[in-house]
Amino acid sequence: MEIIERLPEFNNHRIIVFLSDFKSGLKGFIAIHRGGLLRPAFGATRLWKYCSELEALKDALKLSQIMSYKSAIHRLNYGGAKGVIMSTSQSINKNFLLRSYAKKVNYLSGHFITGADIGLTQKDVKIMRRESPFFVGTKYDPAEFTALGIFYALFACLEKVFGNEQLSERTFAIQGLGKIGMEFLKLIYKNSKKIFISDIDHLKIKSAKKIFPNIQPVKPSEIHKYPVDVFSPCALSNSITLKNVSQLRCKIIIGGANNQLENDKVEKILYKSGILYAPDFVVNAGGLISVVDEVEHKYYNRKRVNNRVAKIRRTLQEILKKSEEKSQPPYLIAKEMAEKIFKKYE
Ligand code: NAD
Repeated sequence: MEIIERLPEFNNHRIIVFLSDFKSGLKGFIAIHRGGLLRPAFGATRLWKYCSELEALKDALKLSQIMSYKSAIHRLNYGGAKGVIMSTSQSINKNFLLRSYAKKVNYLSGHFITGADIGLTQKDVKIMRRESPFFVGTKYDPAEFTALGIFYALFACLEKVFGNEQLSERTFAIQGLGKIGMEFLKLIYKNSKKIFISDIDHLKIKSAKKIFPNIQPVKPSEIHKYPVDVFSPCALSNSITLKNVSQLRCKIIIGGANNQLENDKVEKILYKSGILYAPDFVVNAGGLISVVDEVEHKYYNRKRVNNRVAKIRRTLQEILKKSEEKSQPPYLIAKEMAEKIFKKYE
């Protein structure tokens, strides 16, 4: 137990659940960072190949924390949480695994509300929803709203860096063409000047190229080095590290991935080198906003969700303004703002 408490990622989490089921092959964690009896914690579930239980646990802890920040900065009044399932190479029945996970989620009686993150799809969520009412993202596609939120926030960044919002003059590099990467690509494709893309899954590249013939695939190990206006990390966490930060040639970083920066030092380096980093938990909140709406309202109303997601731009503008006034990195400002809000509920 002491070992977990000493992890830098622990950060006084409310609850950490270890999941194990021999029959289905389920192994994973649910981490609830903040939340309470009247304030359920939201956070999607990730299915990924982790090297060890410790790696999976650390990922869950870091991701659940960022969900608390995301909820607070957009004044959603919910806690933050995350589920991670360790994918194994053994041939397991995915449906059986998902159902087993959903049954475990039921033990938390609604204090944890979840959906699809990396490795899971809306179809998977529908399977789990049959076992548990605490799965969301079936009425709307959260990925679509996550990308839309990034798109709205992008204009605040363009205005700040270039003094105009013209996409036609802008070049992009998108890392990861999963649910978010593809949705974001859809939004910028028509009007932007040039788009480089990368994914470790060749099939994703192939199918994207069929729909968007003008995109230019590049090696996953090279994408961050391209001299573009906007680099958009839409894959795993930690895509910008102390080791590779000096290789960046972009002017703006804005994307869907959670925990894009390895640590706070990376943010300081970005700030000093004049690269605008749009804080991940501020700009990628569209999916969370849409699932919160799904829980709070009986009926689907796309316009209502769209209006809530559009406010991400204003929130980012406020952060960028404060960042300029205080001469501090936007990420630091956003974190301070979020902490002030969620500490009120402690
Ligand atoms: P996904 O599983 O649909 O897509 C991830 C993609 O990244 C896959 O195509 C995968 O092959 C690719 N990838 C993995 N490693 C890569 C690498 N090194 N280089 C290039 N590509 C790589 O997942 P998603 O739902 O699109 O989520 C992407 C990111 O956005 C995650 O960090 C997730 O936590 C975050 N996010 C997702 C949502 C949502 O609504 N799904 C909301 C907020 C944040």
